[in-house]
Amino acid sequence: MISRQDPAAVQGFLEDTSNLKHGWTPGVFFPESEEEVAALLRTAAAEGRRFTVAGNGTGTTGGRIPFGDHVIAMHRLNRVGGVTPLDDHTATIRAQAGAELQELQARAAAAGWFYPPDPTEKSCFIGSTVANNSSGSRSYLYGATRRHVRALRVALPQGDILEIARGQYLADADGRFSLDLPLAGHLSFLRPDYGMPSTSKHNAGYFSAPGMDLVDLFIGSEGTLGVILEAELLLRLAPAKVFACLCWFMDEDGLFGFIDRARSGGSGVAPRALELFDRHSLEFLRQSYPAIPQGTAGAVYIEEETTPDDEEACLEAWMSLMESSGSPSDLSWAALDAEGMARLREFRHRLPVLVNEWLSRQSESKVSTDMAVPDAQARQLYELYRDACEAESFTFIIFGHIGNAHLHLNILPRDRAEFDRAKALYRKLVTRVLAMGGTLSAEHGIGKLKSEYLVQMYGERGIMEMVRVKKALDPYLVLNIGNLIPKSFYESET
Ligand SMILES: Cc1cc2nc3c(=O)[nH]c(=O)nc-3n(C[C@H](O)[C@H](O)[C@H](O)COP(=O)(O)OP(=O)(O)OC[C@H]3O[C@@H](n4cnc5c(N)ncnc54)[C@H](O)[C@@H]3O)c2cc1C
Repeated sequence: MISRQDPAAVQGFLEDTSNLKHGWTPGVFFPESEEEVAALLRTAAAEGRRFTVAGNGTGTTGGRIPFGDHVIAMHRLNRVGGVTPLDDHTATIRAQAGAELQELQARAAAAGWFYPPDPTEKSCFIGSTVANNSSGSRSYLYGATRRHVRALRVALPQGDILEIARGQYLADADGRFSLDLPLAGHLSFLRPDYGMPSTSKHNAGYFSAPGMDLVDLFIGSEGTLGVILEAELLLRLAPAKVFACLCWFMDEDGLFGFIDRARSGGSGVAPRALELFDRHSLEFLRQSYPAIPQGTAGAVYIEEETTPDDEEACLEAWMSLMESSGSPSDLSWAALDAEGMARLREFRHRLPVLVNEWLSRQSESKVSTDMAVPDAQARQLYELYRDACEAESFTFIIFGHIGNAHLHLNILPRDRAEFDRAKALYRKLVTRVLAMGGTLSAEHGIGKLKSEYLVQMYGERGIMEMVRVKKALDPYLVLNIGNLIPKSFYESET
């Protein structure tokens, strides 16, 4: 197996998109087989090694950044298998953890199928999207990665390789999982004893529910319970056509009325994506898109799947909803074909690029949220962010998955004093969102950046529930230490 210790090769593994600094590692391993991953883990405790798993570095929370641990880089485990139809509407595909999402999506599309999970950055690895339960704009209709995982192969921290098909290992009536493994022996542990928020997206901490499937414990566990080696994923029949549109609103009442009606389905529309751009996001975008109408209070991006038979009715339903919500349909930017879709996709991609360009001219990094609240409180979340940032005179943008009451706030500090104030505001916003019944993370996960705030969400007792599950599977604490669970909680256990 190739391993590298030289600074030039290692440097890229000390970064992701979080801007978390001061990571370091004695070396990076590039396993080429499942057995090589398992062998690293099997000897870890005896050799006094810990490992951090690295995907392709598009994560936003520092999860793949090591702080003294060795790195297992998944890049060479990148095979994508063929498509196996299950029936007329669904199929499966297997992919190794280091396969890029865009390759899997292309492979599925070439066979006439469609893989819905779609984090905006398509160069991410399949294993990471499972470890992080990633989602994206289409998750409004299709849900996050969790809903599309049929089976996993996982290297457990003591070196066993476990294949888990859905339905194979379920928590019993007491919430207990029991497993017999060649190396780890008999494992018996209860699912985490805590409730989950009633948001429609949630991605903070280990999943827990009565009768839950072991597959769901690994999904979203951010590499703390095992290394994802391979996943069997569910595909759907590719839609015949997709209609997409950017709808402009001159006032916020119209915009939120539109969202409420689109969500209720009462207007004859059935969106698969409902995404918000606030006025500040549009100001950034205007640098690249001067045709954005002046005086716009915000925009909503929608997508709906159609067929040649119902395309016209779909268009009419959206046009009429726009008009009745005060959004001039003749000004909207609609896409009816692949070329148009690509143009609107590029528009959405452009926002983080422009924000990053702006940040590169300042000395500070952004402070950003990934929180969601119960669906009915979407507007309250937006107003909470807007009012708090306006009161501080911050430069900020609010955008994202409004259909799931899940908005990203990016505060863009101009100097250290503003950065400190933004961090203080972030803490207050976490408290407010949790009091609304919300979640700390709806899609990006916790990583190392947000683990201290996870304590606020679950309380110390909840975090100790995660420690208990972690130690049942990883008794020598060799894997992804520092992700999700603050390190101090391993030491504080009695
Ligand atoms: C511009 C931009 C837009 C984004 N939009 C979205 C979005 O809409 N929705 C969304 O959900 N996310 C989004 N993301 C976040 C990111 O793309 C996802 O979290 C993605 O899953 C990370 O993949 P990666 O391969 O880059 O993982 P990395 O950043 O390398 O690692 C992420 C985490 O996964 C762990 N990990 C990686 N591989 C494995 C494995 N095989 N087994 C166990 N653990 C593993 C790592 O240890 C780390 O904790 C966005 C990121 C960017 C930069």
